[in-house]
Amino acid sequence: MSPTVTVIGAGIIGLCCASYLQRHGRQVRLVDSLPPGRGTSFGNAGGLSSGACVPIAMPGIVKQIPKWLFDPEGPLVVRPGYLLKALPWLLQFIGSAKPEIVERSADALLGLTRPLFENLVPIARDAGVEDLIRRVGQLHLYSTDAAFAGDARGREMRTRRGVKLEILGAEAIRQMEPDLAPIFRHAVYFPDHGHCANPLGLSEGLAAEIVRRGGEIVQAQVRELEIGPDGVRSITTESGSLAVEELVIAAGAWSHRLAAKLGHKVPLESQRGYHAMLASPSLGPRRNVQWTERKFIATPMQEGVRFAGTVEIAGLEAAADYRRADVLLKQGLDMFPGLTGGEVTRWMGHRPCIPDSVPVIGRSPIHRNVTFAFGHGHIGLICAPTTGRLVAELVTGTKPSLDPRPYRVDRF
Ligand SMILES: Cc1cc2nc3c(=O)[nH]c(=O)nc-3n(C[C@H](O)[C@H](O)[C@H](O)COP(=O)(O)OP(=O)(O)OC[C@H]3O[C@@H](n4cnc5c(N)ncnc54)[C@H](O)[C@@H]3O)c2cc1C
Repeated sequence: MSPTVTVIGAGIIGLCCASYLQRHGRQVRLVDSLPPGRGTSFGNAGGLSSGACVPIAMPGIVKQIPKWLFDPEGPLVVRPGYLLKALPWLLQFIGSAKPEIVERSADALLGLTRPLFENLVPIARDAGVEDLIRRVGQLHLYSTDAAFAGDARGREMRTRRGVKLEILGAEAIRQMEPDLAPIFRHAVYFPDHGHCANPLGLSEGLAAEIVRRGGEIVQAQVRELEIGPDGVRSITTESGSLAVEELVIAAGAWSHRLAAKLGHKVPLESQRGYHAMLASPSLGPRRNVQWTERKFIATPMQEGVRFAGTVEIAGLEAAADYRRADVLLKQGLDMFPGLTGGEVTRWMGHRPCIPDSVPVIGRSPIHRNVTFAFGHGHIGLICAPTTGRLVAELVTGTKPSLDPRPYRVDRF
């Protein structure tokens, strides 16, 4: 019988790995301290952008950071008490904004995002949650000429790589999104993009299908990894030890702690993000729309309208500061004047971020039975299906559908 693969992390990345491993004939066991999809994958903006390839650290970002930091409603906060700890990562992040690194990262990212729908639709369909995938395009909005001009490099990078986009003026924006405030002068429309109308529903659907196909889901916190002469032999949780044949580490923003136990030093930092969600909205977006200057996204979800965004550097332990979510709600109301609704819910999650935005996917060069799948930052939902397929190919020794070298764990 083929070996059982244990996957640590039942977020969207671990779930897609498990789904594809089952399709490659493997038994799977997911281990997570939370129920499936309740980590960062719970509250994202649902954006499904098959043309996403522009890394977060872009040339010129150093000049923008002070402006963001001094704006109380700005998109970036660094908690003073955490600054020293985050400094080495922040310096690597700034160092990644060099044009040659940005171009390399863009190619690596597009390798994961371009086959998004090809790899997502079959597993979502089998799980009975295909209806959550809404392929209705996406809009990036600009309220000033300067902001639109400032994003020219990102547009050029996408166009050069064949990503379909259309430039819209104020009237076309109004026709497409009639409830928006009439303050947007320019937009980029991505006709091939879309959104997921319930990211938790997608994760739960995939998890239920994994169980239907014979997979096991264990709710437990992995504390230790026991290493034998032939790789990882077992994992230790609060309720005992589990023997391991093959191991995949897909533990989101916590993955570097497990990788470190295995001798791999990976620069991973949490970029904490928030959302505010308004139930029963009176009006709102038709599709996933991003207010580019303010760096937040409004998405029509099954359960209301979600405003998601913000980057807060404060580590994995600090309590959430829900004033960040309140800012998102306020800006959302600026975006959609007259919007009213029912209950407001607030949420915080940890984006697992690598300085150059390129995740870690691949076999450990130290332990023969370990594979990594983490660090997907701002686009983990988008990258998850292709990551899952690639992980399954690497674990089973199948010819990879994508060159895995840009994602190596030993590239740092
Ligand atoms: C505000 C916001 C908006 C976003 N918008 C988008 C978007 O529009 N599109 C997009 O593609 N992405 C978006 N993202 C990013 C996306 O949500 C993440 O990249 C993705 O969810 C990461 O998935 P994951 O499976 O790696 O992590 P997670 O979902 O966090 O899963 C990791 C799991 O590992 C478990 N775990 C960790 N350590 C252990 C351990 N030792 N033992 C047991 N279990 C453990 C955790 O409990 C967790 O459940 C957004 C993120 C945020 C915060």
